[in-house]
Amino acid sequence: MSAAPNRMHRPDNELVDLVFDYMRERLQYDPVPLDHPGDGEHLRSHLAGLLNEHGNNAADVLKLYDHELSRAVISADSPRYLSFIPCAPTKAALLFDMVVSCASLQGISWLEAAGAIAAENQVLRLIADRAGLPETAGGTFVSGGSAGNLSALVVARDVARRKLGVGPEARLRIAVADQVHSSVKNTFNIIGVEAFVVPTVDRRFTGEALRAALAADPTPETVIAVVGTAGTTNEGIVDDLQGLSEVTRERGLWFHVDGAYGGAGLFAPSVRERYNGVEHADSFVVDPHKWLFAPFDCAALIYRNPQLARAVHTQDASYLDVLHTEGDEWNPTDYAYHLTRRARGLPLWFSLAVHGTQAYTDAIEEGLKLAQETAQVIRDTEHLELLHDPQLSAVCFRRKGWTNDDYYRWSQQLLADQIGFVTPTGWDGETVARFAFLHPGTTMEMVQEILDTMA
Ligand SMILES: *Cc1c(COP(=O)(O)O)cnc(C)c1O
Repeated sequence: MSAAPNRMHRPDNELVDLVFDYMRERLQYDPVPLDHPGDGEHLRSHLAGLLNEHGNNAADVLKLYDHELSRAVISADSPRYLSFIPCAPTKAALLFDMVVSCASLQGISWLEAAGAIAAENQVLRLIADRAGLPETAGGTFVSGGSAGNLSALVVARDVARRKLGVGPEARLRIAVADQVHSSVKNTFNIIGVEAFVVPTVDRRFTGEALRAALAADPTPETVIAVVGTAGTTNEGIVDDLQGLSEVTRERGLWFHVDGAYGGAGLFAPSVRERYNGVEHADSFVVDPHKWLFAPFDCAALIYRNPQLARAVHTQDASYLDVLHTEGDEWNPTDYAYHLTRRARGLPLWFSLAVHGTQAYTDAIEEGLKLAQETAQVIRDTEHLELLHDPQLSAVCFRRKGWTNDDYYRWSQQLLADQIGFVTPTGWDGETVARFAFLHPGTTMEMVQEILDTMA
Protein backbone atom coordinates (compact mmCIF):
# COMPACT_ATOMS: atom_id res chain seq x y z
CA MET A 1 0.00 0.00 0.00
CA SER A 2 1.43 3.40 -0.88
CA ALA A 3 1.58 6.24 1.65
CA ALA A 4 -0.87 9.14 1.50
CA PRO A 5 0.02 11.58 -1.31
CA ASN A 6 -0.42 14.53 1.02
CA ARG A 7 1.98 13.22 3.64
CA MET A 8 4.46 15.99 2.82
CA HIS A 9 1.79 18.64 3.26
CA ARG A 10 0.47 17.74 6.67
CA PRO A 11 1.53 19.80 9.68
CA ASP A 12 4.68 18.27 11.17
CA ASN A 13 5.64 19.72 14.51
CA GLU A 14 8.81 17.71 14.78
CA LEU A 15 10.08 19.16 11.52
CA VAL A 16 8.98 22.64 12.59
CA ASP A 17 10.94 22.35 15.83
CA LEU A 18 13.97 20.98 14.07
CA VAL A 19 14.18 23.80 11.54
CA PHE A 20 13.09 26.56 13.92
CA ASP A 21 15.71 25.49 16.44
CA TYR A 22 18.34 25.72 13.74
CA MET A 23 17.14 29.15 12.68
CA ARG A 24 17.04 30.37 16.27
CA GLU A 25 20.66 29.36 16.64
CA ARG A 26 21.69 30.95 13.33
CA LEU A 27 19.95 34.21 14.26
CA GLN A 28 21.88 34.32 17.53
CA TYR A 29 25.39 34.11 16.09
CA ASP A 30 27.16 37.24 17.21
CA PRO A 31 29.21 37.85 15.23
CA VAL A 32 28.30 35.63 12.31
CA PRO A 33 31.39 33.57 11.36
CA LEU A 34 32.80 34.13 7.88
CA ASP A 35 33.12 30.45 6.90
CA HIS A 36 35.05 29.13 3.94
CA PRO A 37 35.32 28.57 0.21
CA GLY A 38 34.15 25.14 -0.88
CA ASP A 39 35.91 22.05 -2.17
CA GLY A 40 33.78 20.46 -4.90
CA GLU A 41 35.06 16.94 -4.32
CA HIS A 42 34.33 17.09 -0.61
CA LEU A 43 30.86 18.57 -1.12
CA ARG A 44 29.91 16.05 -3.77
CA SER A 45 30.96 13.16 -1.57
CA HIS A 46 28.60 14.37 1.15
CA LEU A 47 25.74 14.89 -1.30
CA ALA A 48 26.13 11.54 -3.04
CA GLY A 49 22.99 9.41 -2.99
CA LEU A 50 20.97 11.92 -1.04
CA LEU A 51 18.19 12.45 -3.59
CA ASN A 52 16.86 8.92 -3.62
CA GLU A 53 13.43 7.40 -3.85
CA HIS A 54 12.75 7.14 -0.14
CA GLY A 55 14.10 10.32 1.36
CA ASN A 56 16.23 10.65 4.47
CA ASN A 57 15.85 11.49 8.10
CA ALA A 58 15.25 15.25 8.32
CA ALA A 59 17.64 15.70 11.25
CA ASP A 60 20.41 14.00 9.27
CA VAL A 61 19.81 16.18 6.23
CA LEU A 62 19.78 19.33 8.33
CA LYS A 63 22.98 18.23 10.05
CA LEU A 64 24.61 17.72 6.67
CA TYR A 65 23.52 21.21 5.69
CA ASP A 66 24.74 22.73 8.96
CA HIS A 67 28.08 20.94 9.19
CA GLU A 68 29.11 20.68 5.57
CA LEU A 69 27.15 22.86 3.17
CA SER A 70 26.63 26.00 5.23
CA ARG A 71 30.33 26.06 6.16
CA ALA A 72 31.16 26.29 2.49
CA VAL A 73 29.12 29.46 2.03
CA ILE A 74 30.93 32.64 2.98
CA SER A 75 28.54 34.59 5.18
CA ALA A 76 27.60 37.82 3.44
CA ASP A 77 26.14 38.99 6.75
CA SER A 78 29.39 38.63 8.69
CA PRO A 79 30.74 42.02 9.82
CA ARG A 80 34.09 40.82 8.45
CA TYR A 81 32.67 40.35 4.96
CA LEU A 82 34.01 43.45 3.23
CA SER A 83 34.16 42.28 -0.40
CA PHE A 84 31.93 43.03 -3.36
CA ILE A 85 28.80 44.39 -1.70
CA PRO A 86 27.99 42.68 1.61
CA CYS A 87 24.49 41.92 2.86
CA ALA A 88 23.52 42.78 6.40
CA PRO A 89 19.80 42.15 6.88
CA THR A 90 18.11 43.33 10.03
CA LYS A 91 16.80 40.58 12.24
CA ALA A 92 13.25 41.82 11.68
CA ALA A 93 13.69 41.60 7.91
CA LEU A 94 15.21 38.12 8.11
CA LEU A 95 12.43 36.87 10.30
CA PHE A 96 9.73 38.33 8.12
CA ASP A 97 11.32 36.68 5.12
CA MET A 98 10.36 33.42 6.82
CA VAL A 99 6.79 34.66 7.08
CA VAL A 100 6.78 35.38 3.35
CA SER A 101 7.96 31.81 2.81
CA CYS A 102 5.72 30.11 5.34
CA ALA A 103 2.65 31.91 4.05
CA SER A 104 3.59 31.31 0.39
CA LEU A 105 3.16 35.02 -0.11
CA GLN A 106 3.16 36.06 -3.71
CA GLY A 107 2.89 39.55 -5.10
CA ILE A 108 1.77 38.98 -8.63
CA SER A 109 -1.54 40.73 -8.95
CA TRP A 110 -3.90 42.89 -6.97
CA LEU A 111 -6.61 40.30 -7.40
CA GLU A 112 -4.56 37.67 -5.62
CA ALA A 113 -2.35 39.63 -3.25
CA ALA A 114 -3.70 43.13 -2.52
CA GLY A 115 -2.52 43.06 1.09
CA ALA A 116 1.05 42.22 0.22
CA ILE A 117 1.14 44.64 -2.70
CA ALA A 118 -0.26 47.54 -0.68
CA ALA A 119 2.58 47.07 1.83
CA GLU A 120 5.24 46.73 -0.88
CA ASN A 121 3.94 49.87 -2.55
CA GLN A 122 4.16 51.72 0.73
CA VAL A 123 7.91 51.03 0.73
CA LEU A 124 8.28 52.01 -2.93
CA ARG A 125 6.48 55.26 -2.10
CA LEU A 126 8.87 55.93 0.79
CA ILE A 127 11.86 55.45 -1.51
CA ALA A 128 10.26 57.55 -4.25
CA ASP A 129 9.70 60.33 -1.72
CA ARG A 130 13.34 60.24 -0.64
CA ALA A 131 14.32 60.53 -4.28
CA GLY A 132 11.85 63.38 -4.85
CA LEU A 133 9.92 61.51 -7.51
CA PRO A 134 6.35 62.64 -8.21
CA GLU A 135 3.17 61.18 -6.69
CA THR A 136 2.53 59.26 -9.89
CA ALA A 137 5.77 57.28 -9.55
CA GLY A 138 5.56 53.57 -8.89
CA GLY A 139 6.97 50.20 -9.79
CA THR A 140 7.76 46.85 -8.30
CA PHE A 141 10.36 44.83 -6.45
CA VAL A 142 12.48 42.60 -8.64
CA SER A 143 15.25 40.12 -7.87
CA GLY A 144 18.16 42.51 -8.16
CA GLY A 145 19.72 45.53 -9.77
CA SER A 146 20.41 43.53 -12.91
CA ALA A 147 16.74 42.68 -13.38
CA GLY A 148 15.83 46.28 -12.53
CA ASN A 149 18.24 47.78 -15.05
CA LEU A 150 17.07 45.40 -17.75
CA SER A 151 13.38 46.05 -17.12
CA ALA A 152 13.84 49.83 -17.04
CA LEU A 153 16.00 50.06 -20.13
CA VAL A 154 13.62 47.95 -22.19
CA VAL A 155 11.01 50.59 -21.43
CA ALA A 156 13.47 53.35 -22.38
CA ARG A 157 14.14 51.62 -25.68
CA ASP A 158 10.51 51.03 -26.57
CA VAL A 159 9.47 54.55 -25.61
CA ALA A 160 12.21 55.90 -27.90
CA ARG A 161 11.24 53.61 -30.75
CA ARG A 162 7.68 54.82 -30.54
CA LYS A 163 8.72 58.46 -30.32
CA LEU A 164 11.11 58.15 -33.27
CA GLY A 165 8.72 55.98 -35.21
CA VAL A 166 11.41 53.34 -35.79
CA GLY A 167 11.48 49.58 -35.47
CA PRO A 168 14.00 47.03 -34.24
CA GLU A 169 16.26 47.65 -37.22
CA ALA A 170 17.12 51.19 -36.10
CA ARG A 171 20.47 51.71 -34.40
CA LEU A 172 19.91 53.10 -30.92
CA ARG A 173 22.46 54.01 -28.28
CA ILE A 174 22.42 54.69 -24.56
CA ALA A 175 24.96 57.00 -22.95
CA VAL A 176 27.00 55.56 -20.09
CA ALA A 177 30.35 56.09 -18.44
CA ASP A 178 32.98 53.36 -18.47
CA GLN A 179 32.36 52.76 -14.74
CA VAL A 180 28.78 51.67 -15.41
CA HIS A 181 27.81 48.32 -13.87
CA SER A 182 28.33 45.16 -15.92
CA SER A 183 24.60 44.43 -15.75
CA VAL A 184 23.94 47.54 -17.83
CA LYS A 185 26.39 46.38 -20.47
CA ASN A 186 24.69 42.97 -20.47
CA THR A 187 21.34 44.68 -20.81
CA PHE A 188 22.50 46.46 -23.96
CA ASN A 189 23.43 43.11 -25.42
CA ILE A 190 20.04 41.65 -24.60
CA ILE A 191 17.94 44.56 -25.81
CA GLY A 192 20.01 45.33 -28.89
CA VAL A 193 21.23 48.83 -28.15
CA GLU A 194 24.79 50.10 -28.23
CA ALA A 195 26.73 51.85 -25.52
CA PHE A 196 27.63 55.48 -26.15
CA VAL A 197 30.58 55.62 -23.78
CA VAL A 198 31.42 59.01 -22.36
CA PRO A 199 34.77 59.60 -20.61
CA THR A 200 34.55 60.42 -16.92
CA VAL A 201 35.93 63.43 -15.13
CA ASP A 202 37.78 62.32 -11.98
CA ARG A 203 35.95 58.98 -12.37
CA ARG A 204 32.54 60.68 -12.42
CA PHE A 205 30.06 60.88 -15.31
CA THR A 206 29.22 64.56 -15.65
CA GLY A 207 26.61 66.52 -17.56
CA GLU A 208 29.32 68.62 -19.12
CA ALA A 209 31.16 65.60 -20.49
CA LEU A 210 27.90 64.18 -21.81
CA ARG A 211 27.00 67.43 -23.55
CA ALA A 212 30.45 67.66 -25.13
CA ALA A 213 30.37 64.04 -26.29
CA LEU A 214 26.95 64.50 -27.89
CA ALA A 215 28.07 67.71 -29.59
CA ALA A 216 31.10 65.93 -31.06
CA ASP A 217 29.13 62.94 -32.29
CA PRO A 218 27.90 62.81 -35.90
CA THR A 219 24.62 61.04 -35.02
CA PRO A 220 23.56 62.26 -31.59
CA GLU A 221 19.90 61.58 -32.45
CA THR A 222 20.58 57.84 -32.09
CA VAL A 223 21.30 58.36 -28.39
CA ILE A 224 17.99 57.77 -26.63
CA ALA A 225 18.81 57.47 -22.95
CA VAL A 226 21.41 58.13 -20.28
CA VAL A 227 22.36 55.88 -17.37
CA GLY A 228 23.76 57.62 -14.33
CA THR A 229 25.15 55.56 -11.47
CA ALA A 230 24.35 56.63 -7.93
CA GLY A 231 27.25 54.87 -6.30
CA THR A 232 29.59 52.92 -8.59
CA THR A 233 30.01 49.44 -7.21
CA ASN A 234 33.78 49.44 -7.12
CA GLU A 235 34.43 52.94 -5.84
CA GLY A 236 31.17 54.32 -4.53
CA ILE A 237 31.21 57.34 -6.80
CA VAL A 238 27.94 59.14 -7.45
CA ASP A 239 27.67 60.58 -10.95
CA ASP A 240 26.69 64.18 -11.62
CA LEU A 241 22.98 63.38 -11.63
CA GLN A 242 22.05 67.06 -11.69
CA GLY A 243 24.16 67.77 -14.76
CA LEU A 244 23.10 64.57 -16.52
CA SER A 245 19.44 65.32 -15.87
CA GLU A 246 19.80 68.77 -17.40
CA VAL A 247 21.01 67.20 -20.63
CA THR A 248 18.31 64.53 -20.65
CA ARG A 249 15.62 67.15 -20.16
CA GLU A 250 17.04 69.43 -22.84
CA ARG A 251 17.13 66.59 -25.35
CA GLY A 252 14.12 64.58 -24.26
CA LEU A 253 16.20 61.53 -23.36
CA TRP A 254 15.23 58.84 -20.87
CA PHE A 255 17.18 59.20 -17.63
CA HIS A 256 17.84 55.98 -15.74
CA VAL A 257 19.59 56.09 -12.39
CA ASP A 258 21.25 52.90 -11.18
CA GLY A 259 21.43 53.20 -7.42
CA ALA A 260 21.57 49.46 -6.81
CA TYR A 261 24.34 49.86 -4.28
CA GLY A 262 24.41 53.55 -3.44
CA GLY A 263 20.74 54.48 -3.66
CA ALA A 264 20.37 53.86 0.07
CA GLY A 265 22.43 56.99 0.61
CA LEU A 266 19.19 58.90 -0.01
CA PHE A 267 18.46 58.07 3.62
CA ALA A 268 21.77 59.52 4.86
CA PRO A 269 21.72 63.30 5.43
CA SER A 270 25.53 63.52 5.34
CA VAL A 271 25.61 62.53 1.65
CA ARG A 272 22.08 63.32 0.43
CA GLU A 273 23.26 66.29 -1.59
CA ARG A 274 25.30 64.05 -3.87
CA TYR A 275 22.05 62.61 -5.22
CA ASN A 276 20.57 65.91 -6.36
CA GLY A 277 19.09 65.44 -9.81
CA VAL A 278 17.77 61.95 -9.07
CA GLU A 279 14.32 63.54 -8.81
CA HIS A 280 14.42 63.88 -12.60
CA ALA A 281 14.95 60.17 -13.19
CA ASP A 282 12.53 58.37 -15.49
CA SER A 283 13.51 55.14 -13.80
CA PHE A 284 15.44 54.41 -10.65
CA VAL A 285 16.79 51.22 -9.10
CA VAL A 286 17.96 50.57 -5.56
CA ASP A 287 18.79 47.18 -4.06
CA PRO A 288 17.46 46.85 -0.52
CA HIS A 289 19.47 43.60 -0.33
CA LYS A 290 22.54 45.80 -0.39
CA TRP A 291 22.46 48.88 1.79
CA LEU A 292 18.85 48.87 3.00
CA PHE A 293 19.46 45.76 5.09
CA ALA A 294 16.93 43.44 3.45
CA PRO A 295 17.67 39.77 2.79
CA PHE A 296 18.39 38.48 -0.72
CA ASP A 297 16.93 39.02 -3.22
CA CYS A 298 15.32 42.39 -3.38
CA ALA A 299 15.59 45.39 -5.68
CA ALA A 300 13.20 48.31 -5.87
CA LEU A 301 12.44 49.47 -9.41
CA ILE A 302 10.56 52.76 -9.67
CA TYR A 303 9.34 54.62 -12.75
CA ARG A 304 8.40 58.27 -12.98
CA ASN A 305 5.55 57.25 -15.28
CA PRO A 306 4.65 53.63 -14.57
CA GLN A 307 2.10 53.57 -17.40
CA LEU A 308 4.98 53.56 -19.88
CA ALA A 309 6.41 50.48 -18.19
CA ARG A 310 3.05 48.80 -18.12
CA ALA A 311 2.61 49.26 -21.84
CA VAL A 312 5.88 47.41 -22.39
CA HIS A 313 5.87 44.72 -19.71
CA THR A 314 2.26 43.56 -19.43
CA GLN A 315 2.11 39.97 -20.54
CA ASP A 316 -0.80 39.25 -22.80
CA ALA A 317 -2.04 35.77 -22.16
CA SER A 318 -5.72 35.07 -22.28
CA TYR A 319 -5.67 33.36 -18.89
CA LEU A 320 -4.29 36.64 -17.47
CA ASP A 321 -6.99 38.91 -18.89
CA VAL A 322 -8.87 38.90 -15.63
CA LEU A 323 -5.85 40.62 -14.00
CA HIS A 324 -5.99 43.69 -16.20
CA THR A 325 -9.45 45.01 -15.68
CA GLU A 326 -9.87 47.85 -13.23
CA GLY A 327 -8.04 51.17 -13.22
CA ASP A 328 -6.90 51.45 -9.62
CA GLU A 329 -5.49 48.01 -9.20
CA TRP A 330 -1.75 47.59 -9.14
CA ASN A 331 -0.28 44.47 -10.68
CA PRO A 332 3.46 44.40 -9.91
CA THR A 333 3.86 41.83 -12.60
CA ASP A 334 3.19 44.54 -15.21
CA TYR A 335 6.20 46.68 -14.36
CA ALA A 336 9.19 44.43 -15.03
CA TYR A 337 10.24 41.36 -16.91
CA HIS A 338 8.64 38.76 -14.67
CA LEU A 339 5.29 37.19 -13.98
CA THR A 340 5.32 34.99 -10.89
CA ARG A 341 7.08 36.74 -8.02
CA ARG A 342 7.29 36.36 -4.29
CA ALA A 343 6.34 39.37 -2.20
CA ARG A 344 10.02 40.12 -1.72
CA GLY A 345 9.44 43.69 -0.60
CA LEU A 346 7.72 42.61 2.60
CA PRO A 347 10.77 41.83 4.77
CA LEU A 348 11.93 45.42 4.26
CA TRP A 349 8.42 46.73 4.86
CA PHE A 350 8.16 44.88 8.18
CA SER A 351 11.58 45.97 9.36
CA LEU A 352 10.95 49.60 8.38
CA ALA A 353 7.59 49.56 10.11
CA VAL A 354 9.10 48.07 13.28
CA HIS A 355 12.28 50.13 13.52
CA GLY A 356 11.39 53.38 11.79
CA THR A 357 13.43 55.22 9.18
CA GLN A 358 15.80 56.87 11.64
CA ALA A 359 17.29 53.47 12.56
CA TYR A 360 18.04 53.00 8.86
CA THR A 361 19.61 56.43 8.61
CA ASP A 362 21.81 55.66 11.61
CA ALA A 363 22.91 52.29 10.24
CA ILE A 364 23.72 53.73 6.79
CA GLU A 365 25.63 56.62 8.34
CA GLU A 366 27.70 54.06 10.25
CA GLY A 367 28.96 52.54 6.99
CA LEU A 368 29.83 56.01 5.70
CA LYS A 369 31.71 56.76 8.91
CA LEU A 370 33.66 53.49 8.75
CA ALA A 371 34.78 54.44 5.24
CA GLN A 372 35.94 57.90 6.35
CA GLU A 373 37.79 56.57 9.38
CA THR A 374 39.40 53.80 7.37
CA ALA A 375 40.49 56.31 4.73
CA GLN A 376 42.17 58.34 7.47
CA VAL A 377 44.03 55.30 8.85
CA ILE A 378 45.23 54.52 5.31
CA ARG A 379 46.42 58.09 4.78
CA ASP A 380 48.31 57.85 8.06
CA THR A 381 49.98 54.53 7.24
CA GLU A 382 53.30 54.77 5.44
CA HIS A 383 53.02 51.62 3.33
CA LEU A 384 49.40 52.23 2.28
CA GLU A 385 48.02 54.67 -0.25
CA LEU A 386 44.41 55.83 -0.61
CA LEU A 387 43.31 55.91 -4.25
CA HIS A 388 40.28 58.19 -3.94
CA ASP A 389 38.57 60.00 -1.08
CA PRO A 390 35.57 57.79 -0.34
CA GLN A 391 32.24 59.34 -1.34
CA LEU A 392 30.13 56.52 0.04
CA SER A 393 31.21 53.36 1.82
CA ALA A 394 33.75 51.80 -0.57
CA VAL A 395 37.45 52.39 -0.01
CA CYS A 396 40.06 51.48 -2.62
CA PHE A 397 43.71 51.55 -1.63
CA ARG A 398 47.15 50.32 -2.56
CA ARG A 399 49.74 48.43 -0.54
CA LYS A 400 52.91 50.04 -1.82
CA GLY A 401 55.22 47.54 -3.49
CA TRP A 402 52.72 44.70 -3.78
CA THR A 403 52.19 42.71 -6.96
CA ASN A 404 48.98 41.19 -8.20
CA ASP A 405 49.99 37.87 -6.60
CA ASP A 406 50.70 39.49 -3.27
CA TYR A 407 47.13 40.80 -3.08
CA TYR A 408 45.60 37.43 -3.93
CA ARG A 409 47.80 35.51 -1.50
CA TRP A 410 47.02 38.00 1.24
CA SER A 411 43.28 37.84 0.55
CA GLN A 412 43.24 34.03 0.71
CA GLN A 413 45.22 33.93 3.93
CA LEU A 414 42.93 36.53 5.50
CA LEU A 415 39.92 34.33 4.79
CA ALA A 416 41.68 31.14 5.87
CA ASP A 417 42.44 32.87 9.20
CA GLN A 418 38.82 34.08 9.39
CA ILE A 419 40.05 37.64 9.89
CA GLY A 420 38.25 39.07 6.91
CA PHE A 421 36.86 38.49 3.44
CA VAL A 422 38.51 41.21 1.38
CA THR A 423 39.01 40.45 -2.29
CA PRO A 424 41.30 42.53 -4.50
CA THR A 425 39.84 44.69 -7.25
CA GLY A 426 41.03 46.50 -10.34
CA TRP A 427 41.98 50.17 -10.55
CA ASP A 428 43.00 51.38 -14.01
CA GLY A 429 44.40 47.96 -14.78
CA GLU A 430 46.25 47.63 -11.48
CA THR A 431 45.30 45.15 -8.75
CA VAL A 432 44.49 46.95 -5.49
CA ALA A 433 42.67 46.34 -2.23
CA ARG A 434 39.11 47.40 -1.50
CA PHE A 435 36.77 47.50 1.45
CA ALA A 436 32.99 47.76 1.06
CA PHE A 437 31.43 48.81 4.34
CA LEU A 438 27.78 48.34 5.04
CA HIS A 439 27.40 46.12 8.10
CA PRO A 440 26.88 48.40 11.09
CA GLY A 441 28.51 45.70 13.24
CA THR A 442 31.87 46.13 11.52
CA THR A 443 34.28 47.87 13.90
CA MET A 444 37.46 49.89 13.39
CA GLU A 445 39.23 47.21 15.45
CA MET A 446 38.32 44.66 12.76
CA VAL A 447 39.54 47.03 10.06
CA GLN A 448 42.80 47.65 11.90
CA GLU A 449 43.29 43.92 12.41
CA ILE A 450 42.99 43.46 8.65
CA LEU A 451 45.27 46.38 7.80
CA ASP A 452 47.89 45.07 10.23
CA THR A 453 48.22 41.95 8.09
CA MET A 454 49.49 44.14 5.23
CA ALA A 455 52.48 45.44 7.15
C1 LIG B 1 25.05 45.35 -7.50
C2 LIG B 1 24.81 46.29 -8.58
C3 LIG B 1 24.02 45.94 -9.68
C4 LIG B 1 23.47 44.55 -9.86
O1 LIG B 1 22.57 44.26 -8.87
P1 LIG B 1 22.17 42.74 -8.54
O2 LIG B 1 21.26 42.90 -7.40
O3 LIG B 1 23.47 42.06 -8.18
O4 LIG B 1 21.55 42.15 -9.74
C5 LIG B 1 23.77 46.90 -10.63
N1 LIG B 1 24.28 48.14 -10.52
C6 LIG B 1 25.07 48.50 -9.49
C7 LIG B 1 25.58 49.90 -9.42
C8 LIG B 1 25.36 47.59 -8.48
O5 LIG B 1 26.13 47.96 -7.45
